Amino acid sequence: MHIPILKHPQIQRAKQTLKLTASRLVDNHINLAVTGLSGSGKTAFITSLVNQLTEANEQAYLPFFSVLSEQRLIGVRRDVQPNLTFNRFAYEQAMSDLTESPAKWPASTTGVSQIRLKIKYRNVKGLSQYLVDDSTLTLDITDYPGEWLLDLPLLDMNFEQWIVHCDGELTDTRRAKLALEFLQALENVDFSAKADELVLEKVAGLYRQYLQQCQFEGYQLIQPSRFILPGELANAPVLHFFPIPQVLIENHRLNLSNPPSGSNLAVIISRFEQYKEAVVKPFYKHHFRHFDRQIILVDCLSALNHGHSSFQDLQKALDWLMRSFQYGPSNIINRLFEPKIDKLVFAASKADHITPDQQVNLIKLLDNMLRHARKKIQFDGVVSESTAISAIRASKSGFSKVNGEDIPTLRGVNSNGELITLYPGEVPTACPSLDFWQQQRFEFPKFMPPELVNSYALPHIRMDQVLDFLLADKLR
Ligand code: GDP
Repeated sequence: MHIPILKHPQIQRAKQTLKLTASRLVDNHINLAVTGLSGSGKTAFITSLVNQLTEANEQAYLPFFSVLSEQRLIGVRRDVQPNLTFNRFAYEQAMSDLTESPAKWPASTTGVSQIRLKIKYRNVKGLSQYLVDDSTLTLDITDYPGEWLLDLPLLDMNFEQWIVHCDGELTDTRRAKLALEFLQALENVDFSAKADELVLEKVAGLYRQYLQQCQFEGYQLIQPSRFILPGELANAPVLHFFPIPQVLIENHRLNLSNPPSGSNLAVIISRFEQYKEAVVKPFYKHHFRHFDRQIILVDCLSALNHGHSSFQDLQKALDWLMRSFQYGPSNIINRLFEPKIDKLVFAASKADHITPDQQVNLIKLLDNMLRHARKKIQFDGVVSESTAISAIRASKSGFSKVNGEDIPTLRGVNSNGELITLYPGEVPTACPSLDFWQQQRFEFPKFMPPELVNSYALPHIRMDQVLDFLLADKLR
């Protein structure tokens, strides 16, 4: 029997092998990290990202996600996460919360969690399109608390420099008031006496309580971060240290560079050093160094709601946090390892709390907050973009007639379960002055999550543009 040469089984097998090999060659991989301070919207963002991708060919609305608009997306599925020691990102639980009636917001994550997706797509051009029918992008998404990045500057501080920084924070009268119990307890510590583990644990507990109250009051620059987000370190002695105000150091004539051996002071200083070595550095060495792309969520609107000092504090926290992405030669990260992150998105989250006409202002506000730190990032060759998103849009925008004029409004369900229509006000493009806050307040509303009717795809604002910026170049 005559078999045409191109259909010969051996040639078919060789072609198949070639295809597989080429397919492996073009298979690519992205380690995407998602971060932001507590409450900034990380859980909602990852839930929506997984939802948009897995629903992309079904009901998701992603007009600006090019692989989809070019009809090259074949399918997306979850796969076993690569790092089995991390928590698995609880996507199913989050979707079950959001599809309950009434829907509820998923519980926030507090440590590191991970999820892996396999994205199968058709190639657009290049050699691969002649060899393979399709390719696969492996997307690993890692969620970690932004607070952990606030610890990076500690690596460049010794104990003495750290306490100068902490003293500076206590010049804010609201913070000083919250620290009262901790400061009083310090008066009774004999720093030169033999170390007493229980005393150190108790005072460290009061310091932690002060930091937790700061967080509750809307402060964002809170470090050492593991005091409020200890993860597996809750109760570990490495967290049993605290700053000592300079006035106490002077009054007790404490020698920080040569503390009495085995004294409370010596143990406090050595734990501060241990915290940097055994907690802060390993995060950068084992996790951060593997990230390729990063999204940082910033909740500017809640900070505006909280008032002037919270907003200033968010600004300071962002300056600290951004040091992890400034890879200039003097940066501590460069001294630890070579960073890989090449694309960075700053996203003002929860943009469904404002009317569409205010979205540009929100992006300008975020840009303004990042202005100084951003310049260094651009200089260091990382491509960055800022945007305003809503991972899970809980309001609908429209217009209402007021005195014959059309006013842009939002409609959503408030936390009492009532349907409300409101104009939440204007977003400033830069941090307003203190007098502004003394005269009026911002009151951006809180909404319950949307009820999903006849659809499993989450409504959103600009998730498609974020997906395109982060993934499109790897889906060609
Ligand atoms: P995380 O601590 O960074 O993981 O923050 P979450 O994702 O848990 O978000 C904290 C809270 O912010 C949620 O419980 C919601 O109340 C709210 N939130 C987060 N994302 C959105 C959003 O896109 N729209 C609205 N309206 N609220 C959001």
